[in-house]
Formats: sequence, C-alpha cells, structure tokens
Amino acid sequence: MSNEDNQQDRYQARQQRVKEKVDAKIAAAKEERGIVIVITGNGKGKSTSGFGTIARAVGHGLKCGVAQFIKGTWDNGERNLLEKLGVSFHVMATGFTWETQNKAADTAAAQGVWEKCRQMLQDDTLNVVLLDELTYMVSYGYVELEDVLTALQNRPLMQTVIITGRGAHRELLELADTVSEVKNVKHAFQAGVKAQKGVDW
Ligand code: ATP
Ligand code: MG
Repeated sequence: MSNEDNQQDRYQARQQRVKEKVDAKIAAAKEERGIVIVITGNGKGKSTSGFGTIARAVGHGLKCGVAQFIKGTWDNGERNLLEKLGVSFHVMATGFTWETQNKAADTAAAQGVWEKCRQMLQDDTLNVVLLDELTYMVSYGYVELEDVLTALQNRPLMQTVIITGRGAHRELLELADTVSEVKNVKHAFQAGVKAQKGVDW
C-alpha cells in the first residue's frame, strides 16, 4: 500500500468515527421545543447574529417579531428590510440613554417596548422573537429581571427567543438554552474607522 493510500485510509477511518459520534448525538436529541438563545460579550456580532437568525426563520416562512431597545431614531437597515417581509418591529422611540440623560423618560420608553415584548412572548403564532439589546434594560433597572424571567418561562412551548446585549445577567444565562459570548479581538472603530451604514447599522 502506498503512503498516500495509507493516509487516505486513516483519514476515512477518522471521519467514520466522527460521523458515528455526530449521528449518535443527533439521535439522542429528541426533544422538540423552542429555545432561549443569549448572545452576549463585548465583540461585534451580537445583533447581526440575532438578525441572521430572523432572516433564516423568515426564509422558512416562519412568523417573527423584533423588539429593539436603545437603537433610537436613526435609519436602521434590518428594520427597512424585515418590515417589508412581514416581521413586526417595536423600536424604542428615544435615542441612547447617555444622550437623553433623563431616567424617567428612558424608563417609560423602555417599559413601553417591554410591554410589546410581553405581548410577543404570549403570542403562540410567533415562532421566533428577537429582543435586541434587552440586557441593558435589565442592567439599568428599566425593566425588572423577574418580569423578564417570568415572561420567558411562560412563553409558548415552540417559541424561540433570542436576546442580545453585553453583560447579560447571570440568571438570564442560567435560564437560556444556548449562550454565546462574542469576544472582542479588535474592532475597526478602535483604529479610528467610522461606523458604516450597512455594516454597523
Ligand atoms: P452588531 O450590531 O454589529 O452585530 P453588536 O450588536 O455585537 O454589533 P453592540 O454593542 O450592540 O454590538 O454595538 C452596536 C454598534 O457598536 C455597531 O455599530 C458595532 O459595530 C459597534 N461595536 C460593536 N462592538 C464593538 C467594539 N468592541 N468596539 C467598538 N464598537 C463596537
Ligand atoms: Mg447590538
């Protein structure tokens, strides 16, 4: 047997073992239910991951809803596209909290959007719900952690919820089924590159 054939055989045997392990895991995963996904951490890619999942779901004809906390009043590429495709959007009307610096107004704005979230989390026609930047509402105390946990626990069985934002609360991470932390390795902004339409918003 040539050296090449030998390598090929070993490669095949290794791939076969990998396949058996993956197949066994696929066979073991039998439960069918919606999940809670948290995408947190300091790197870029949390909201884009959430919206990527919404795009995926819409592509399968599933019904989706989005709430955007913090985003504010500027032009918003994901909203422009997804609203045309029938995704319902609830966006916080005021801008960044560090622009308004009015706690009462910010709390009222956050509570207004949270009320929409609560409705979405009770709506069993919604397959996938994205709560973009919700983590900050909890850290700033605009929305009660207990309210969030209760609404998530009582949501329809098949509904999947994606929550994004830095510094996700420990109890939110515990409740979630899938948690990913996006690590900041570097970001163009730190090198002085301006945020760009279509890339950053
Ligand atoms: P994106 O919406 O691009 O996926 P994100 O949701 O992970 O980003 P946020 O904290 O919500 O990150 O910030 C949104 C904006 O801040 C985006 O314009 C993004 O490019 C920028 N941003 C994200 N991470 C960083 C970082 N580590 N340094 C500087 N700017 C960042
Ligand atoms: Mg984000």
